[in-house]
Amino acid sequence: MNVSSHIEAVYEEVRRRNPGEAEFHQAAAEVLDSLAPALERHPEYAETGILERLVEPERQLIFRVPWVDDQGKVRVNRGFRVEFSSALGPYKGGLRFHPSVNLGIVKFLGFEQIFKNALTGMAIGGGKGGSDFDPKGRSDGEVMRFCQSFMTELYRHLGEHTDVPAGDIGVGGREIGYLFGQYKRITNRYESGVLTGKAVGWGGSHVRTEATGYGAVYFAQEMLATRGEGFDGRRVVVSGSGNVAVYAVEKVHALGGRVVACSDSSGYLVDEDGIDLELLKDLKEVRRARISDYAEAKPAARFSDRGTVYDVPCDIALPCATQNEVRREDAVALVKNGVRAVAEGANMPCTPEAVELFREAGVLFGPGKAANAGGVATSGLEMQQNAARDSWTFEQTEARLSAVMRDVHTDCRATAEAYGGNADDYVLGANVAGFLRVAEAMAAQGVI
Ligand code: GLU
Repeated sequence: MNVSSHIEAVYEEVRRRNPGEAEFHQAAAEVLDSLAPALERHPEYAETGILERLVEPERQLIFRVPWVDDQGKVRVNRGFRVEFSSALGPYKGGLRFHPSVNLGIVKFLGFEQIFKNALTGMAIGGGKGGSDFDPKGRSDGEVMRFCQSFMTELYRHLGEHTDVPAGDIGVGGREIGYLFGQYKRITNRYESGVLTGKAVGWGGSHVRTEATGYGAVYFAQEMLATRGEGFDGRRVVVSGSGNVAVYAVEKVHALGGRVVACSDSSGYLVDEDGIDLELLKDLKEVRRARISDYAEAKPAARFSDRGTVYDVPCDIALPCATQNEVRREDAVALVKNGVRAVAEGANMPCTPEAVELFREAGVLFGPGKAANAGGVATSGLEMQQNAARDSWTFEQTEARLSAVMRDVHTDCRATAEAYGGNADDYVLGANVAGFLRVAEAMAAQGVI
């Protein structure tokens, strides 16, 4: 069988075996589409079924999460953990708490995570988990009881050498604290390295909170530098207003750019003076409020619930909200307004149609598995500190993060050049570089 029909057959099997899981199909197609040149050079990977094995998670867990709300009513959510690949290290990847979470979403995220984690060059495998629990509007007590119930099932599958979850949408420092507490209570072990994203005072790493947003900006900075450009004096649009978005804004401003718009699920906010970070952080991190409240606190800013944040003209766009938020029409608007670079802070925020449009228009495009690898890379640094019972300074840790992002960028370009002839093809570079690292380990470890 030739390489392209082999890839096609694997994709067809993914669709057949995982019916209705549109996001997983999309993530698989996006990677598989890049792999022909890698398999041409490594026929042994096709012969040993590397692709067939890679698209099938090593283990998939689905469990009931019962808890009691503040009114005394019993609630039931569904919990997931997909342990996708342990070729390079313990399963590693976040937990997402959001009503949209289902098995297909967790699989798409877990699949992406395999290649992202491989790109960091660290010894971490790929996994992802979460629940359809919606933390929005829930009290701290309810969130704690939910997390305790979730961990009461999940703990038996975790371990610092087995599976190491962290945060994602809806899971931040508060949730990691409750999850860690319950793990410690059940196992009677202070096993710091079993979760990452802990607070700095009890085993967390400096820069972990900032890392995904900072990392995406570093990656965009590296892409722009290849054209002799930078953030200084540039207009930037950041979608979202969660953890990734907030720290992307912070780093863009530190580099002399101006973030003129951000968004949440209710609409978007334009502030031509540049987003006021203190105000945004207070709203999002302290009050857990909506961005429409920003416009009330600062009348010069404008909140809109019509159109999208991508209607706002910008030089650089950083999609930091969620999957498939940048549709074809958003990409058309961005290109028409002269966007130079797009780097994905979120996981798969650009639809395939949008990515194609950026490619045709010659816009620099950094796919999430490269551009947002800073979060999990800093989780890797947290694991290193935990294993050594050490704690590094903010400056030391940030220097490590920025070096990782630089290396990921270099690796993507070199691989894209070697396997496709065009160093600007970051999609090809990221997929092939990640794949080769995982495939080499899988081949060496035999058929498992
Ligand atoms: N959820 C983040 C991601 O998408 C971080 C995962 C981690 O730190 O393990 O990469």
